[in-house]
Order: sequence, then structure tokens, then C-alpha cells
Amino acid sequence: MSELIAIRDVSAIVSPGSHEPVISQRSIFIRDGVILGVGDFSLLASMYGQPDVVLDGRKKVAIPGFYDLHTHIAMLGFRGLLVDADRPVHETFFMLSSEMDCETAYRLAVAGALEALKSGIVLVADVFFQAESVAEALESVGTRGLVGYCCINHEEAAHSESEIGRAIEFGKRWRENTLVKPAIAPYSVDTVSREQLELLARLARELGVHLHVHLARSREEMKYTRELTGYTPVLYAYRLGLLGPRTIAAQANIVSEQERFILAQSGSLIAQCPSSSMLEGLPIHAYEYWQLGGNVAVGTDSPSLNDNIDFFEELRLMVYAQRVQLERKVWKAWDLLE
Ligand SMILES: [Zn+2]
Repeated sequence: MSELIAIRDVSAIVSPGSHEPVISQRSIFIRDGVILGVGDFSLLASMYGQPDVVLDGRKKVAIPGFYDLHTHIAMLGFRGLLVDADRPVHETFFMLSSEMDCETAYRLAVAGALEALKSGIVLVADVFFQAESVAEALESVGTRGLVGYCCINHEEAAHSESEIGRAIEFGKRWRENTLVKPAIAPYSVDTVSREQLELLARLARELGVHLHVHLARSREEMKYTRELTGYTPVLYAYRLGLLGPRTIAAQANIVSEQERFILAQSGSLIAQCPSSSMLEGLPIHAYEYWQLGGNVAVGTDSPSLNDNIDFFEELRLMVYAQRVQLERKVWKAWDLLE
């Protein structure tokens, strides 16, 4: 039988919404990565036997794993490179990531997954051109993944139509995997044609997978989408039926009050990325989305637009950014854990 592990006398956050969200001086028994029980050490030992390994949990806190709901971990190799780029996404991100070979993407994604794990990230929602490499890397590290096959087909980011076919193959190949799930990821609404956005949205529904899209992330996207469609990115996505509980809308920085309401009401996961947004001088609206009852999530975004993949750092910066922006003290630490 596999090892029985116990964390003894630890304080733990067990369920933020419950009447006893934090427990003290209890033990956690684990086997095969599954928590068997939380409670008194002697009682648990009488139920499950003496543990093979006992970790001293005194003066430590056990917390649930974090979900990083928007990132590009294989961009770790370009850490800091895009910070001062004038058009980081179009001129640099597309160029660097689309030219990367699969072996390099795999190795960088392994390093990225390990760095993420250091701050307690146990699930990564990633968007990348070499989605296969990222999925394999996450599987080898043992980190859960929601990996989006990145699709673009506009002008300077032009990719061939066959990308859609590869996205479908990727979705089918990883759909049954227990650790890494596929997602369909049009890069943004201004880099994919209307026909293909509708096709990808339909594909995601048919495959029963998430749709992951950058949305209203920059002023450039806003300008281009308006010129192209007559709508803002959020209204355009709404009209095309892209929003919903199985959609991750990444960043959603440039939005009106009405658009914040639409996003919150749609049930979409709104992944706010404080570091990369602040680096680009863009506002974040996590607090407003949260107040509207939106599904606010946190993303570390590309390590090339962020100095690290550190979930605690993102939470901290999210509070700082919102307090500066709203000019008042919003949120307490406990609100964020909830
Ligand atoms: Zn991104």
C-alpha cells in the first residue's frame, strides 16, 4: 500500500464559506494525494493506522491550492523582455511564441509549472500556440491544466486555416485526460475573424470544453475592434455568444460600467491579471466585478509581462491596485481567500 502521510498540529483553512473556516492544531491524513481526514491525530491514527511520514505542522498554515486562471507559462524564457515594448502583444508575443519549437516550449513550460507550484498554484489555465507541449509539461509535473490552443488569423498575427483543424485535434486528444483538459482559445476578438470566432465558440460547446479569450485587454484592441465591427470587444463578444459560465474572459481592463455588468451577469470567469495590467498602465476592475457578483479569478499572465509566477504577489498587487484606483481601502485579506 502507498505511504500514509500526516501533517500534524497544523492550522488549516478548510472551507472559507463555512461557520468554522479556520481550524487550529489539527492533523491532516493523506494517501495517494487524497485527504482522508482532518482532525485529532490520535483519532485519525485509530481510523487509518500510524502514518509512514509525519510532517510537523506547528506554526504553519495549510491552505487550498490556487487556480491561476490566465497565463502563458512557456513565456518564462522571455521574462522581463516585453516590459518596455511599445506593442508587446503584436510585435513581440506573437513573434516569439509562434516561432518557438515544441521542445523549447515543453522545457520552458516545465520550468513555469514548477515556479507556479512554489506559490501553491495547482491548476494553470494557459493559452499558447504550442498547446500540446504545455499540456505535456503540466502532465509531467503533475499540475492540473486547462490548456487553450491559441488561434489567430488576422493580419500581422496571420495563421493558416489549418490551425482550426489542429485545435480540434488537440481538443479531442486531451478531452479524456484526467489531469489536463483542453480549451479553445481565440487569442482575442480583434485577432480572429467573425466567422472563426463563431466556429470556435460552437466547437467549444460541441466538445464541452472552456473557451478562453483575452477580452478588452488593451486600448489597441478597443480601437481595432470598433473599427472592424462597430462594437466594443465586450459587446461584440456578447453579441457573438462568446460569454458564459464556460468562458474565461482574460483581463477585461477597458470596459464601461454597462460592460462590467454584462460580464458579471454572464457567469464568465473574469481573470484579472494585476501585474501585467499595471505594467501596461491599464486599470483593473476586480473589486467592481466582485461587487456585481461576478466570478472574479486571478491570473499571473505571461511571465514575460510579469517578473514572476507568484499567486500571493498577484493577490497583494490586486488589493494595492484597487485601493489606489478607487482611492479607498477595499477588501481585507480574508475576502481574497474566500
Ligand atoms: Zn495573456
